[in-house]
Amino acid sequence: MTTVSGMSRRKFIATAAAVGGSALVPKGLFAGPMQDPVVNTFRKDGKEVNLEKVPWKVRPFPMTQVRLGDGPCKQAQEADRQYLNSLPPDRLLHTFRLNAGLPSSAQPFGGWEAPDCELRGHYAGGHYLSAAALMYASTGDEELKAKANTVVAELGKCQDALKSGYLSAFPIDFFDRLRERQRVWAPFYTIHKIIAGNLDMYVHCGNEQALQIAEKMAGWTAGYTQSLSYEHMQRVLGTEYGGMGEVLSNLYAVTGKEHYLEVAQRFDHKQFFDPLAGHRDELKGLHANTHIPQVIAAARYYEVTGDRRYYDIADYFWNEVVSERSYCTGGTSNHESWNTDPGKLANELSTSTTEDCCAYNMMKLTRHLFGWTGDARLMDYYERTVFSHRLGTINPEDGTMMYYLPLASGYWKTFGKPFDAFWCCTGTGSEEYAKLTDTIYFHDDDSLYVNLYIDSQLEWPEKGLRVRQETRFPEQEGSSFTISAKSPVQMAINLRIPYWVRGGSVKINGTTLQAFSSPSSYLSLNRVWKNGDKIELSLPMGLHIDAMPDDATVQAVMYGPLVLAGSFDPVTNEMMYGDYEPKPGDVHKVPDIVADAGKPTAWIEPDPKQALTFRTVGQAQPATLVPLYKIIRNRYSVYWKVGNKSA
Ligand SMILES: [Zn+2]
Repeated sequence: MTTVSGMSRRKFIATAAAVGGSALVPKGLFAGPMQDPVVNTFRKDGKEVNLEKVPWKVRPFPMTQVRLGDGPCKQAQEADRQYLNSLPPDRLLHTFRLNAGLPSSAQPFGGWEAPDCELRGHYAGGHYLSAAALMYASTGDEELKAKANTVVAELGKCQDALKSGYLSAFPIDFFDRLRERQRVWAPFYTIHKIIAGNLDMYVHCGNEQALQIAEKMAGWTAGYTQSLSYEHMQRVLGTEYGGMGEVLSNLYAVTGKEHYLEVAQRFDHKQFFDPLAGHRDELKGLHANTHIPQVIAAARYYEVTGDRRYYDIADYFWNEVVSERSYCTGGTSNHESWNTDPGKLANELSTSTTEDCCAYNMMKLTRHLFGWTGDARLMDYYERTVFSHRLGTINPEDGTMMYYLPLASGYWKTFGKPFDAFWCCTGTGSEEYAKLTDTIYFHDDDSLYVNLYIDSQLEWPEKGLRVRQETRFPEQEGSSFTISAKSPVQMAINLRIPYWVRGGSVKINGTTLQAFSSPSSYLSLNRVWKNGDKIELSLPMGLHIDAMPDDATVQAVMYGPLVLAGSFDPVTNEMMYGDYEPKPGDVHKVPDIVADAGKPTAWIEPDPKQALTFRTVGQAQPATLVPLYKIIRNRYSVYWKVGNKSA
């Protein structure tokens, strides 16, 4: 989340609407459970209509058809679910009601939902609804859906009281300040979250009132933006505005109203898009998470318009950020920004590296590119980011979430307090762990793609199939699948062979196949599948080094997709909770590694007695390494300085 220029976030916290035509939705538009707007059709005059100009080549299943089994992903999902259920609707609604002139005696939340915070409402009326809707799709939690439906109904009353279609927990005059280019935090950023939250409640929970609320807000947005010249609007886009272009495109895809697409493209920031379309990396100096959602919008514009310029923007950006500006964890940004030329990361290690929102949004963008191509490399990145960034940034004990994932050595993880954080990253985190079911499996008309090795079950009713994936991955180096089929089905099951695999093999019904596939590809098993068929996939992991692109002696160690971290002394609860980041300076001195930097893994070996545990070899101060995601309470080190002499 960006700060207002020249003002720290903390200091900041201490501190004429035009009515658009928002025709209400005809009854019966909702056509049953949908995955997400990118694959939706909507129903018009009794027929299914699909507006995608570039349909996805491979598509996700509705999350309602995928359920997680035991393992670290389920643990994260359950911690998130409990957290979402702990938030009382009256407290969520408090500032919305006050802003609409309606009574509320609820206890206000703190953090970025405090009554004097300029971002209030972004979580309570936005991320919360998205997360609850996604969680309902992933788990069928009726109690949570009921609470979220209450919030929608009460937000509808607030919107009615405000009259113009505007809905927010802060006064509408924030938009006057935005127009006049006076100091204001990020009004459209917040509006994006609220429209998206309501749209998700429609898509995943069938709440038609939520769609009406979203459409009225879009109508208000149309009026506000229409009153500005192109040049004036471009200046307004200098203030962070989240994924306005994306959510308005989704609204177009779901309703078929072309006007929304036109409004969406008013949020094209020319100054940012032009260099990307020309394949030029001019990202240095930009705030990362202000811009990644704009590229997701470009991906959506490409899908709904077919305009290749938007493809170039999204494709070039993804490749540049992943190959030149990402750390071993899959995360990007330092102090929330890209501060350097491409490939210069060795001096970009701090207590505020890799804002969690950036990982959330890069994964979201990755799904679009994967949908277009089915390229296994994209899922290599996705897997790395799930297991080495996202899993370790929620506290499985209490569902609290991190803001940054610090990559400077010798520090620790910090988590927000449950009712006093509501950071941007609390919001994206609440959504992330509610939608871990959305990418494990994809499909096309004739085949299944297994992208991620996560214990889970898939129902595919169109094929009369159920697939049970059983694995303790990443502790188990592989996975197995049991097919339940009403009648035999001819189809390909495509298993992702990750970039990190060392060898590997597959058995069908106990017989090893002679063929396998190369790393970063899909192994295609095409046959007639019968009830009870079993696939056993072995994916041996090995140690490998991920060195900084600009300094080969600054190295992180990986095992399979897992970033390993040296684990040091535990920290206290006071140190763990409440802050965005650990205190710079309060550092445990991590020893340099004395070894030949040109001989990767010469200085580390597995502990034969404990799975996923490793030890340094031949060092004066030995260290134990474990997967970064498993470290919650201990100081840690991800990058090591490796050389023949200790510095
Ligand atoms: Zn964030």
